[in-house]
Amino acid sequence: MPVTLIANVRIFDGVSVISQCGHVLIESGKIQEISDQTPSSASEYTVIDGSGCTLIPGLIDAHVHVFQDLTFLQTAMQYGVTTVLDMHNESEWFQKMKSVANGRNDVADLHSAGLAATVKHGWPSAILRLTAAEDPGLETRISGWPNITDEKIADEYVATNKRSGASFIKLMQEDGCALNLPFPARPIPTPSLEIQKAIVEAAHRNDMLAVAHALTNHSVLEVLNAGVDGITHSSLEPINSSIIEAFQKTNAFVIPTLAVHASGSGEDSHTRERFAADLVDTAQKEHFLGCLHIMLPGFSIHNAYEQVRSLKSAGVDILCGTDSSEHLAGTRAGASVHHELWLYVNRCGFTPIEALASATSKIEERFKLRDRGRIEIGRQADLVLVKGDPTECIDALDEIIGVWRNGERVVTA
Ligand SMILES: [Zn+2]
Repeated sequence: MPVTLIANVRIFDGVSVISQCGHVLIESGKIQEISDQTPSSASEYTVIDGSGCTLIPGLIDAHVHVFQDLTFLQTAMQYGVTTVLDMHNESEWFQKMKSVANGRNDVADLHSAGLAATVKHGWPSAILRLTAAEDPGLETRISGWPNITDEKIADEYVATNKRSGASFIKLMQEDGCALNLPFPARPIPTPSLEIQKAIVEAAHRNDMLAVAHALTNHSVLEVLNAGVDGITHSSLEPINSSIIEAFQKTNAFVIPTLAVHASGSGEDSHTRERFAADLVDTAQKEHFLGCLHIMLPGFSIHNAYEQVRSLKSAGVDILCGTDSSEHLAGTRAGASVHHELWLYVNRCGFTPIEALASATSKIEERFKLRDRGRIEIGRQADLVLVKGDPTECIDALDEIIGVWRNGERVVTA
């Protein structure tokens, strides 16, 4: 593999700007050297002049649904998103996607929850029966999902999921009451607190993180009580002190998914237009600019913004995630990460550096990714070269001029 030097470049390492004019040497897919001088260790290398540009770690989306959509992983790369965390998928599908990502660098890598800890007629089968009823394989797939009705099944579920290659465990604490959807019955069944606790404990015994879908304050408190490491959405209800205290007490993180929440309520949809400006395909553009409209009338996206602001000031870790998938209108692989970060800066009071950290080092740290997420010697050379300075102005992410995965440049402006 060729040796590459990205020279004379501002370096944001995932946490802070470590150089205004540095050099990063990439060899054998890894970051080999970071210095203020031109390195002398390698005799021959291709030089990329990074003058006027910023090098950042490959971005990570901490909440997506890949299914078996390879285009999703390719599109993500065009936006500098080199890793995605897949939050519920058929084992067979993510294994297939993972093996493609292991073999080529022009698609984003994925870590998956595999099948979430589901119960019969619970989430997400309830919503899929409304939104994907015409899918001929749906009922067969759902019939193979876990039905975790006691603690023994919880143990078996975690072990099976781990064996199938899942990297973490996803709980579903969703009774459907906060969504304006015509479910045949409410509440949708959810596992009891004891079972959720048993799943979290089994995950932890297996050295896996447990994260949870929860959309109401009550459900958030329930799963925080069960011991989860993080919540995969911000709540749809206004924040209060007991939520803040529960996050602080448990040290759980939150993945706000403002991108999908805004689509769910149909608010602030004009903020997506700048990220769709380059899209020429009409169907893709319609999907990304469309809105889900699934929130109850009481919901306001401004509550979600306020919640992210409050949790951040209370010291809670915010991890960038969007809930992007081919099925959710208002989202697009990669582009939604830019949108989500834009919302953190322009609606939730983040500095651009805090926003970038939420999509790099914060996810690396909390999901224990270790091999990526930062520009550090020995890490995978998953890198994004951006014209201008996104650490000063997040809009600079519009101008990506290079994306590397495992040291291979796969996107060139
Ligand atoms: Zn999701």
